[in-house]
Amino acid sequence: MEAGMEEWLEQVWFIPAETKPNSVGIIISCGIHGNETGPIVACNALLDLVRSKQLTPAVSLLLIFGNPQAINANQRYLDFNLNRLFGNSVAGGIEAHRARQLEQACHRLQQQCGGIRWHLDLHSTIKPSRIERFALTPVTRAEYQLQWQPLLYAGGFLGLVRQTRRANTFSQYTHDHFGTDSFTLECGSLQQRTNQGDNALLQWLVAMVTEPSALASAHQDATLQEFRVAEDIIRHSDQFQFIIDEQEPNFSPHPKGSLIYSDRDGPFYTSDQRYSLFLNSGVEVGQRAGLLLERIQ
Ligand SMILES: [Zn+2]
Repeated sequence: MEAGMEEWLEQVWFIPAETKPNSVGIIISCGIHGNETGPIVACNALLDLVRSKQLTPAVSLLLIFGNPQAINANQRYLDFNLNRLFGNSVAGGIEAHRARQLEQACHRLQQQCGGIRWHLDLHSTIKPSRIERFALTPVTRAEYQLQWQPLLYAGGFLGLVRQTRRANTFSQYTHDHFGTDSFTLECGSLQQRTNQGDNALLQWLVAMVTEPSALASAHQDATLQEFRVAEDIIRHSDQFQFIIDEQEPNFSPHPKGSLIYSDRDGPFYTSDQRYSLFLNSGVEVGQRAGLLLERIQ
């Protein structure tokens, strides 16, 4: 094992920087949903590079495989969606226990390093997307410290979605508790996964943990397609159904006046141009069945 490397919890690795290991920390997480294989493959390869001493991070890295039991079962989750359980101690089950453990690991990193600069929580979308790779910010209370657009662009993340409604996600948790520059990164769809895609993600992660300033300067003028969440689609009753094709790719455009879905209270029409994201009518009553975005840049 690399000198100083520690496994704080099952599949949670602390990898200290070579110099000043206690100055600042960063977090990369994957497998919060156990079947999102591409980022898990890339993070395993990153861990192998550390173990074989081919890679030492410039700042101390916490590398997290989010839900080991779900990863082994190749399932999204076992008892409950882990990415709705951070900072929320109400729900039970395997994932609730894991969420508490991961929160404690983040606190330990904060204590040990005095700060957490950024957190990238890596996911895959269920359906293909018109913007294949994209980033989501949680509800933010401060401007991020780094200039992220060039960094994200360098990784092929060409869309940025600003969320407007809080959810108990991992990235929301780290931003809220540690003031971290936090993102949920959608690294491609489950269907479109390729070895080249996994390898490109790995190369980008290596650059991010070793010399991100070089990445930034190579893409100084990059701009992303930017969106904010205009409407959360909530399934209010068993009568809920999409009128648009639920299988359409993420970011499909719908002009003003489009009929999107109907529910107990009647049909819903868009009040302006909107783009769909994460459509899924198969959620419990009261849960989010999708998002409608507005373009802001
Ligand atoms: Zn996911």
